[in-house]
Amino acid sequence: MQIDVRNLQHHRLFTAQVDLDQPPDIIESSVAGTGDRTKIHLDWAQAIDDHNHLKRCPLCGCEELFVRKDFPQAIGFIIVLLAAVIAMIMFATRQVLEGFLVLGLVALIDAIIYLFSGRCLVCYRCRSEYRDLQIPRDHPGWELSTGEKYRTNNPGNTTG
Ligand SMILES: [Zn+2]
Repeated sequence: MQIDVRNLQHHRLFTAQVDLDQPPDIIESSVAGTGDRTKIHLDWAQAIDDHNHLKRCPLCGCEELFVRKDFPQAIGFIIVLLAAVIAMIMFATRQVLEGFLVLGLVALIDAIIYLFSGRCLVCYRCRSEYRDLQIPRDHPGWELSTGEKYRTNNPGNTTG
């Protein structure tokens, strides 16, 4: 399992690989060359159930996690932007059919990226992200009411 470790202020600290068969009590940042290594304590009590599903954030202990499509948003945005520019040029030069073809192709590419991008679990409280793990098919996604609950509980304000 890969963990994108964040602190309670949602600041991203580092990424760690964790073996769920032998979950470590402490993970360290693996930034080479720097003296300041961040050690994070993990609490695995009731964090993983019999099916190796993550039930609880081992970083902050929060029991509410939501599932998110791991869609590379930056790439999706760039593709759409490029396509819009190309289509506009084509429409301007009266290549209307080709313009629509470009737009259709891009919608298809976006759909394919979306389909093949994996899912990750995100902790409502600290926003740490968990990848490469079994996620139940029916695991709920982001819910605004739950998100609001943690936003008000946690005054650490960040943009985004
Ligand atoms: Zn957490």
